[in-house]
Amino acid sequence: MISLELDDRYSRQVLFPGIGAEGQRKLTASRVAIVGCGATGSALASLLSRAGVGTIRIIDRDYVEPSNLQRQSLFDEADATESLPKAIAAARKIAAFNSQIVIEPHVADLIPSNIETLLEGMHLILDGTDNFETRYLINDFAVKNSLPWIYTAAVGSYGVTLNVLPGQTACLACIFPNPPQGVFETCETAGILNSAVNLAASISATEAVKFLVGAEDRLRRTLLSFDVWCNERAEVAADRPRPGCRACGQHDFPYLAGTGRPHITLCGRNSVQIHERHRPVDLAQMSERLKPLGPVRHNDFVLKFWHEPYEMTLFPDGRAIIKGTTDTAVARSLYARYVGT
Ligand SMILES: [Zn+2]
Repeated sequence: MISLELDDRYSRQVLFPGIGAEGQRKLTASRVAIVGCGATGSALASLLSRAGVGTIRIIDRDYVEPSNLQRQSLFDEADATESLPKAIAAARKIAAFNSQIVIEPHVADLIPSNIETLLEGMHLILDGTDNFETRYLINDFAVKNSLPWIYTAAVGSYGVTLNVLPGQTACLACIFPNPPQGVFETCETAGILNSAVNLAASISATEAVKFLVGAEDRLRRTLLSFDVWCNERAEVAADRPRPGCRACGQHDFPYLAGTGRPHITLCGRNSVQIHERHRPVDLAQMSERLKPLGPVRHNDFVLKFWHEPYEMTLFPDGRAIIKGTTDTAVARSLYARYVGT
């Protein structure tokens, strides 16, 4: 085996005056959480792990699919073929290029009942999610605990990022008191350019590094948005909390008090997610049980089962995604038939 000389791994970054040897030591001692490891989460995790952030906790409940590969830079075709959970696939990929840092993958949804545990001990939270519900949950937790977080989003050719430093800057609820109403665009409806993702994530990762090395005076205090296709760019001042803000003014944190996701939800096109069962499932046993009904395969993390016209993805915690229907009653009865009640 060839031994790599790794002492100079960070040499080019240490040469950068804004970081230096002291900054690099601070990065090594840093602990950050990345919530959601899709497109933006992948890019954030890749940049920060290569930069030498010492501990990175990756929280994501989804598994890798072929349609992810266009923009989710930590995953490959083998991950999609195996339907690996994104958190696990990301941890494996990062370990191959930086084995000197700690990656803590959690295959989970961030919800009010687990947020304390999943974000405990972190210095900074990075948003890699794709929904406002989870972002408000992160915002409530961060403001309540005076923990900084960085909002990052991308859809179509558009990207946006905001640093939230509780007590100093505006929070997400200062700027958007309510979630966007009605139908708003998602990657599934508007498509997405991988370059918009990477630009938004690059800016957020830079802000994260500034914060972690102590260059707080360099942190951007605006909501920055851009459109890489239309050549537009906008900034909205976010340098102080909005008086009367529900979260940072009144300390009202409804998302923390919430009960989390509903037990059954539509997810994506033509599929239903069922997460009402909280009993663990033995995937090997389930595989044997389903064999007579149709093709099935499983690994330690996930089971896939095909039963025309349906396809079920089942996780060890009992959560399932049933493709081939948008009817929740149909999905429930299929779940009962395949997995049990
Ligand atoms: Zn606020």
